Amino acid sequence: MTRQLAVVLGDQLDPASPILDGLDPAQDAVWMAEVVEESIHPVSHKQRIVVFLAAMRHLRDALRARGITVYYSELGQGGEHGHGPGAGSGRGRGAEHNQRSDNRPPAGGSARTRESHSPVTLTEQLEHDLARIKPQRIIMLEAGDYRLEQEFLALAERVPYPFEVLPDPHFYVARAEFMQWLGERKQPRLEHFYRALRKRFDVLMDGDEPRGGKWNFDAENRKAFSRAGPELSPPRPRFAPDATTTAVIDTVQTHFPDHPGSLDGFNWPVTPEDARVALDDFVSHRLATFGRYQDAMWTDAPFLNHSLLSVALNLKLINPRVVVETVIERGRSNGAPMASVEGFVRQVLGWREYVRGLYWARMPDYLEQNALSADMPLPAFYWHGETEMVCMAQTIGQTLKHGYAHHIQRLMVTGLFALLVGVEPRQVHEWYLGIYVDAVEWVELPNTLGMSQFADGGVMASKPYVASGKYIDRMSNYCRGCRFKPDRRSGPDACPFTVLFWDFLMRHEARFGSHPRTSLMWRNLAKIQESERGAIRATAVALRHEFAQSR
Ligand code: FAD
Ligand code: SF4
Repeated sequence: MTRQLAVVLGDQLDPASPILDGLDPAQDAVWMAEVVEESIHPVSHKQRIVVFLAAMRHLRDALRARGITVYYSELGQGGEHGHGPGAGSGRGRGAEHNQRSDNRPPAGGSARTRESHSPVTLTEQLEHDLARIKPQRIIMLEAGDYRLEQEFLALAERVPYPFEVLPDPHFYVARAEFMQWLGERKQPRLEHFYRALRKRFDVLMDGDEPRGGKWNFDAENRKAFSRAGPELSPPRPRFAPDATTTAVIDTVQTHFPDHPGSLDGFNWPVTPEDARVALDDFVSHRLATFGRYQDAMWTDAPFLNHSLLSVALNLKLINPRVVVETVIERGRSNGAPMASVEGFVRQVLGWREYVRGLYWARMPDYLEQNALSADMPLPAFYWHGETEMVCMAQTIGQTLKHGYAHHIQRLMVTGLFALLVGVEPRQVHEWYLGIYVDAVEWVELPNTLGMSQFADGGVMASKPYVASGKYIDRMSNYCRGCRFKPDRRSGPDACPFTVLFWDFLMRHEARFGSHPRTSLMWRNLAKIQESERGAIRATAVALRHEFAQSR
């Protein structure tokens, strides 16, 4: 008889999590499941599926090594159980039954799973297994995304067992605390939230004053590389797939052969030990230059000085407090400049916590937002990267190869392009949620819909993040190898970003023309004669038509 069943989701993989910590192997058990639904909702990059499944299986094995019973359904097998359950039958028994026939192809229509799938969700699988496990009590951490939370709350109502949901302690700020903070503000902004957290958790503080004399070193963190490009830093650590990860890679190759992305050179942390290695490597080799070149981009240099820790953080392989403390302590002893250390802390303590709070405050309506009434389809090259625009080909190309692009590539290349074209935000969201290894909805959605697409009408950002091709030219070497000219606003050689930027300003002048922080843009727009405006509009119309037709 199982006394307590701990339900663990794929992004709750901390072995020291409060629902796993006090388990008694003699009478408690853990339940985990791989279901196809989570890989095709949305259609996911192959490496994203591997990261989740490999990390889950490693946790399963670590728990079993502690003597804990783990009920676990593997994709492609008939369900694998720690002890007790009969083989059972029916569609929920195991993942060979977890197939559905309506697999949505990605935009562009190229990805398709090999088999047809009957719909089985996580909660359907759990409900089926509960009939055999019959625990006295179920515990789990609050789910990371709204859809899953709703499904588990509904399940808790249906099943005849006490079902306790605990807050997720892997964040500095509880959801209810954020709601209270938000409720007290007319115009919530990251900067206020971040400063309050610095004080509350005594992070980078000297008494009541911010360490280094100011809260924000952003101005020092926007440098581009010189013409010689980035200095060589040691290669990132190698997380060679072990037998467990290799088995997952084979499974993903078999079940999702047409999903986007490559599996070659898979190299992401899938255990807490790997995550620690990734953190140490970042602090030792890249933290010092992280801040200065945070926004810079360079051809064929996908990772630069970034930490690559988002996957480990989001799957809870490492705690953000450990990351922040290590960066501050080791940063100081390694001589990393304050601008780098503060720049990094701002991302993790500030942005990461802030977007999570906003996500929960705004769901489920957030998903439907479309403040600029954008309605274009996502251009097909987002799924294969074949375009003459070098910046897009580079960013999408590395995304398909590694499941990774850094923040400015996501915001000011692929995100900016979709915003300027006027792509329907929901399609942009589904692309980002499927294509990045670190993508989980609570962090992806506010960044995509809010920060990048301005679809929330100004909740995340007070104004749209728009720029012309000249910004990309300044922050990278992409334009040097591109057939388009970043300073040309119309005609066949004009950079599509530049054309669409001026077109965006003309289309949205009434809405944003009086925004105090954008006055320079509008003054520059006012200098453009009506005849040239016509040429810009005509080029923009032709470009939109071309992108909508692209295959
Ligand atoms: P670094 O540049 O080394 O930054 C350190 C850490 O700070 C990251 O690991 C991350 O945990 C945190 N961080 C940095 N920026 C943000 C931010 N804007 N919001 C929240 N946390 C942040 N991040 C995700 O983790 N998952 C996503 O699905 C995701 N989707 C995004 C979609 C768009 C359109 C944009 C513009 C940004 C998105 N981000 C997302 C935020 C950011 O781009 C990634 O966290 C970052 O690129 C991950 O790489 P890194 O670990 O090397 O980060
Ligand atoms: Fe991108 Fe325009 Fe530069 Fe080409 S010219 S790389 S399209 S910004």
